[in-house]
Order: sequence, then C-alpha cells, then structure tokens
Amino acid sequence: MTIQDILDQKGCRVITTAPYHTLDSVLATLIQNSVGALVVQNRAGDLLGIITERDLMREVYNGTDLRAACVEDVMTRDLVTSNPDCDIEYVMAEMTEGRFRHMPIVDEVGRLAGIVSIGDIVKAKLESAEEEVMIYKDFVTLDWRAS
Ligand code: AMP
Repeated sequence: MTIQDILDQKGCRVITTAPYHTLDSVLATLIQNSVGALVVQNRAGDLLGIITERDLMREVYNGTDLRAACVEDVMTRDLVTSNPDCDIEYVMAEMTEGRFRHMPIVDEVGRLAGIVSIGDIVKAKLESAEEEVMIYKDFVTLDWRAS
C-alpha cells in the first residue's frame, strides 16, 4: 500500500500557515480544523517547515507569550517529506525513527501534495488487516463447502 492510496481516501487538502503568523493564530487554526500540524509556506508556496501541537505545548510550558511569538521563532525547519509513491511501511519507519507524527507529501516538482499523520497510517493498516481477514474467511468458507 502506498501513500497515494491514503491520499485517495482522505484528499490532498493541507492546512498551512505563514512564518509571520502568531502562535495564538496557529492554536486557533489547529483547533478550528481539528488537525495537529500546520505546514509553513511562504507566499511563493515554498515549504519552510512545520509547526505542530507539540511545539506549541513546549512554548506554553516555557511561558512564551503566544500573541507575541511567531511561527518562524518555533517551527521545525529541517522538514522530512515523502512522496505519494512511498510505501506506508517506509513512512511509518521514518516517523518512528524521527519521533514525529506528521509527514508532508510532495510531488515530483516539490509541490505540497498532501499530509499524512500517524493516525491515517494506523487507520489504513487496520483496514487492510480487516480486508485480509475477510479474504481468508471467504477462502476457508469456500474451501470447506467444496470439500
Ligand atoms: P509531532 O509528533 O508531529 O507533533 O511533532 C514532533 C516534533 O517533530 C515537532 O517539533 C514538530 O515540529 C516536528 N515534526 C513534525 N513533523 C515533522 C516532519 N515531517 N519533519 C520534521 N519535523 C517534524
């Protein structure tokens, strides 16, 4: 199963923010859209980084003023991305290794093509395991009837 299979189901919409937005606006965007991460882009659409709920939690813990601090002050710039053709096992391994739960997906020319969370991957794995069980069940039933 590839990342494209997940994107076909959930769509390619990615909620983004800009480096100059304040952290309280990021918090509002995360809550209003029920997502855990925003990809950071400039006006030209270049990918600059990512900011997630975990980054905000750290700033709250540190006593940062969310109305004064900006995305570019706290975002992760060293962005790890994948492409739609990647196997979901590969992306799972990257997330486990890098200890993050969000993977922006880019196309062959580096444009944002979607985002996959660890939740999307778990859902896809569960559905494929359920399908496999159904196939084995059908197979056993057919085999039993034929004998
Ligand atoms: P998360 O588990 O996704 O909430 O993120 C944990 C930390 O990793 C945060 O500091 C994020 O900014 C960072 N992070 C999340 N996704 C990525 C990614 N795809 N590439 C690099 N860093 C990331």
